[in-house]
Amino acid sequence: MKIVALAGGVGGAKLAHGFAQILPPEDLTVIVNTGDDFEHLGLTICPDLDTVCYTLAGLANSDTGWGRENETWNTISNIEKLGGPNWFRLGDQDFATHIERTRRLKEGKSLSQVTREFCAAWGIKQTVLPMSDSSVRTMVSTDKGELAFQEYFVHRHCEPDVKGFRFEGIEVAQPVPGARDAIKSAQALVICPSNPWVSIDPILRVLKKIDKPVVAVSPIIGGKTVKGPAAKMYAEMGIEPSALAVAEHYHNLLAGFVFDNQDRQLSDNFKKGKILVTDTLMHSPADRARLAMDVLQFVGSL
Ligand code: GDP
Repeated sequence: MKIVALAGGVGGAKLAHGFAQILPPEDLTVIVNTGDDFEHLGLTICPDLDTVCYTLAGLANSDTGWGRENETWNTISNIEKLGGPNWFRLGDQDFATHIERTRRLKEGKSLSQVTREFCAAWGIKQTVLPMSDSSVRTMVSTDKGELAFQEYFVHRHCEPDVKGFRFEGIEVAQPVPGARDAIKSAQALVICPSNPWVSIDPILRVLKKIDKPVVAVSPIIGGKTVKGPAAKMYAEMGIEPSALAVAEHYHNLLAGFVFDNQDRQLSDNFKKGKILVTDTLMHSPADRARLAMDVLQFVGSL
């Protein structure tokens, strides 16, 4: 069964890895958010893309879910000693990715081409596509003014109150080559349990029309995020954070929605598509594969 998964970073990467464990590689395409990308220390950094690729390649740090396993921090600590910026933690192995990506982009290669080359080098057989080759930059409107995404997310630890989002460059951004064909030949699109506001909305905005059944997995369980600010964002924008709020967020698109077992009672109130209630917390690679299998069976039943 061919699937296109839409993913942000940590939550998205985990379910993408679940699909990768059970589908033939040619049946999985992951389209990844690039709204979190930014230029820092002279380098182009693509946090969600790298998290997805490191996870699929088995290179990700299993404690944090982002960055590399067995990482060392010599470069950033020496930058720090020189008085350079240290708020965005980059490990030495990770630095190599950003340096080499920046070099290839400067040679004139597109982000999708560089990503394809990196995937080949890392032994990733699935297709990983950035959502667009042109720059989209997520801007967060807050009570402290408008902030670039990483300034809000990492530098200010998501502390400012969120009022809304703006995706700079989204109007002209096009899906990368191969994205539309992957969607055309897929049985369904699966929205991974990623942040709806800042990880999935930008991808949906770039893809525009989707003529396939869409299934989403809730990133909010029992009113809380597993990690990150999605629930805080809902609350600050006047919406009670819950799996149901996520389902409402996507409601025009959905053929089905996946609730966690903890939210079984909420699922009774979802009337706009089919429902799957299952265990959606992914602690281990086996959890990822089991959830992916549940989602595939659900897709098959639509
Ligand atoms: P980011 O770009 O690194 O913040 O990553 P994503 O947007 O992909 O993921 C963040 C979201 O993933 C958060 O809202 C988390 O609650 C959710 N998430 C992380 N791990 C899990 C998990 O194991 N299960 C579920 N259901 N959601 C998860």
